[in-house]
Parts: sequence; structure tokens; C-alpha cells
Amino acid sequence: MIIDGHADISGYLIRQKQQGRLSALEDDLLADLQAGGITGVVNAVYLSEDELADPKKSALAQIKEIKHQVELSQRMELVTSAHQFEAAYKRDLIGLFLSLEGAEPIEQSSDLDLYYDQGVRFVGLTWNRANRYSGGCDTPDIGLSDSGRELLDRMSRKNMILDLSHLSDVATDQALAYYRGTVIASHSNARSYADHVRNMTDDQLIKLANRGGVVGLNAMSKFVSQNHATKEDMRRQLDYMINLCGEDHVAFGFDFCDRLFPEADSKSFDVLDGHEQAFDFLDTLRLPDRIKDKLAWQNWLRIYETLNDKPSA
Ligand SMILES: [Zn+2]
Repeated sequence: MIIDGHADISGYLIRQKQQGRLSALEDDLLADLQAGGITGVVNAVYLSEDELADPKKSALAQIKEIKHQVELSQRMELVTSAHQFEAAYKRDLIGLFLSLEGAEPIEQSSDLDLYYDQGVRFVGLTWNRANRYSGGCDTPDIGLSDSGRELLDRMSRKNMILDLSHLSDVATDQALAYYRGTVIASHSNARSYADHVRNMTDDQLIKLANRGGVVGLNAMSKFVSQNHATKEDMRRQLDYMINLCGEDHVAFGFDFCDRLFPEADSKSFDVLDGHEQAFDFLDTLRLPDRIKDKLAWQNWLRIYETLNDKPSA
């Protein structure tokens, strides 16, 4: 069993649909997920520049599309709690959670109810850019706004999970101090090993662990190492974060992009060749099986146990 805490699947499905490909989940991604032993994945609703023109419409379109294709596939199931995830696993289905990567679709904080009702249980307040709720990692001096704090209050009343990946340093510190619910960094690495603003400082990682949170190891090369990243660098990132945070606070948030954004002109690449290599990567870790199980799924499951439980029908 392996859970991937971050994948931008729904935007990919929309882009493929625009080209007339109506079952890209089944056609392009499912075999890869299954080959790699992936049993759970958090889909991030990430909006491109174009989609930001009408963020609510775009986000709801992504959610509708992924739900539709999940249903078509008959091999995945939308889940909103640990209980539902485990029930899906027992039926051999990949559990799919929904997350917002950037809160722009929440046009006013009361909109949160709309997304919650759609099954969204994770929110990252920003992508790299600043918005009405918070600064992002491209705006290092902008922290949480009053609207951001109001949104966090609403999220904690619903036991939703706050994702710190992409927040500015100031906002990360403020959110760690302010948010009363569960905090994670779904797809970030250690800045001490790869000096990039998207990665977490040692201080942030320690605070996250002290709050009971989990950080997901990101497989994008630019976040793994500043020099042409290798699988060995990924193992070192993992070792570094385990040594710093403890084995209960590290998991996977691979953020594979090569397949999902083939058009992107990026110098970064996926250090693993997609989900299909996830199991092999886990296998090569020089760690006892007890710790591998924590990284692969137990730590994420502990986080999901903090969500409101709604046994599946
Ligand atoms: Zn991201």
C-alpha cells in the first residue's frame, strides 16, 4: 500500500478533454498507479493562469470531471475520511481525496461549504502567488490576511486539513501558530538539502512535526537537489527529513509533473519515472519495513483519521 499525498490529476483530465480525450484517467494514468502499488492519492485542484480568470467555475469543472472519470474507471473511489479510504482499499479500489492547491476558487470564505460538500478536505491557501488569503513562496514577505485567518477558522470548524506547501515563509510560520486543525506540507522537501523557496526550513519542519503534521517527499528534481537530482538524492532528502522530524512525520507527495504537464517548458524533471516506480523506490530505501510502512501509508492515514468520519454507504 502506497499513498501519494499530491498529484495534479484533474487539471490534466480537463486539458485532455479539451482535445477530445474523454477517458484520460483510464487511458493514461490508471495502469501507472496500479503498477506502482498506489492505493491512495490526493488530487490537487491546481488552476492554470487561464483557469484563474474564473476560478470557481474552473475548480468545479475539474472536480466534476475527475469524479466522472473515477466513476467510469470502476477502479477508484472518491473518499473523504480514513474510514472511507480503508473501505475502498478492502474493495481493491484506489482511494482518491480532493484538495484545493490555492484557495482562489473560494471567492468568499463561506464558499468553503460548497467545496466541502463536493468532497474537498484539504486546502492550500496559495500556490506560489499571493492571493486574498495569503502570500505564497514567490512573495516571501506577505503573510496571512484577515480573510486568510477567517478561512482557517472555518476550515478548523470542519476538521479540514491545512496544506502549507507553497505558502510564503511568513505565512507558514503564522499558519503553524494560528491554525487549530491538522497541518501538513503535502509536497515539499528540506531546504537545507535543496535550497529552494518551495522547500521547508529546518525550523518549519520541526514545528510541523511538533504539531503532529506530516511532510510529503516531492520527486521534482528542482526540489530534490540543486544539482542534477538522482534517486540517491531523493533517499538523502528522505533521510534528512526523517532525522529531523522523526519517522512519524514523513510520507510521500510525489507531485509527478512530466506526464501531467508534458507541454511545460521546465528545467525540472521527475526523479522517478512516475507512479509506476513508487514501489521500487520504496523497496530500495535502506530502512526497516516498519518505517517503510509509515512512509508509504501509515503516516498519511493517521492524518486522514483527523477528518470527520462519514462511513461510506
Ligand atoms: Zn504544487
